[in-house]
Amino acid sequence: MSKPVFNRQLERLVTGVATQDGAGVSLVRVLTHDLQHRLDPFLMLDNFHSDKPEDYLAGFPDHPHRGFETVTYMLAGRMRHRDNAGNEGLLQAGGVQWMTAGSGLVHSELPEQEDGLMSGFQLWLNLASGDKMIAPSYRDLQADEIPQVSPQPGVKVKVIAGSAFDTDGAVQRPHTEPLYLDLQLEGGQQLDLPIPASHNAFLYVYEGELRIGEDGRAAPAGRMAILSNTADAAGVSVQAQGNSRFLLIAGRPLNEPIAQWGPFVMNTREQVEQAMRDFQNGKF
Ligand code: FE
Repeated sequence: MSKPVFNRQLERLVTGVATQDGAGVSLVRVLTHDLQHRLDPFLMLDNFHSDKPEDYLAGFPDHPHRGFETVTYMLAGRMRHRDNAGNEGLLQAGGVQWMTAGSGLVHSELPEQEDGLMSGFQLWLNLASGDKMIAPSYRDLQADEIPQVSPQPGVKVKVIAGSAFDTDGAVQRPHTEPLYLDLQLEGGQQLDLPIPASHNAFLYVYEGELRIGEDGRAAPAGRMAILSNTADAAGVSVQAQGNSRFLLIAGRPLNEPIAQWGPFVMNTREQVEQAMRDFQNGKF
């Protein structure tokens, strides 16, 4: 058997867009609308990071979702969520909320702090057409419920979803088979990172800087690195310049039409209009 080759390359470096969402939360939209097909099954990635209360205090009051999943990963701070089915939970540093909106719900996501740092990510993951109307569900995972592995000295990996380095993550999902890792590399560490060849994949560096692939192209903090879909590649080879932290997010593309209006993501315009009517008629 030949040796696996970790030869995905850095295809494109993306700078996020500073914007506001919810009732006025400042954030950086890392994965924007125009990348939804290239990074299918992922629809959006936001990075919120501020120690200024005016950037986050307004939070995300009651709003609906239908047709996809949201994955919120907190690095710092506390956020409480409540929904119209009576579910409630507190998201804290190192914790993850995996919400399957499915047929629809109305919820709020509000900071439970008056000051200090609020930092984390929200990822939107599409559902296959046959799953868009499944019953909504939640999983609240505390920091100690996220499996961690150290494949070599100087490297720490939290396996949020999927499997890596012989470690099963906290969440497994059918169809899109998402791989969601939070990695920490000491300066100079080189790592061969396994990624299923079938998946669209990207890295988001949030501390330090990575050199990616054979040509060692740089991906500094605050940038998303879209990885090439190299045939038969076992994954990507990265090296940290100084202590570095980054997300690896990968998933199997659905290759289905995407029809989005705000918080409704369906396959056709008619289905989106139906979602708006159902929401207005209080059917969520
Ligand atoms: Fe939401």
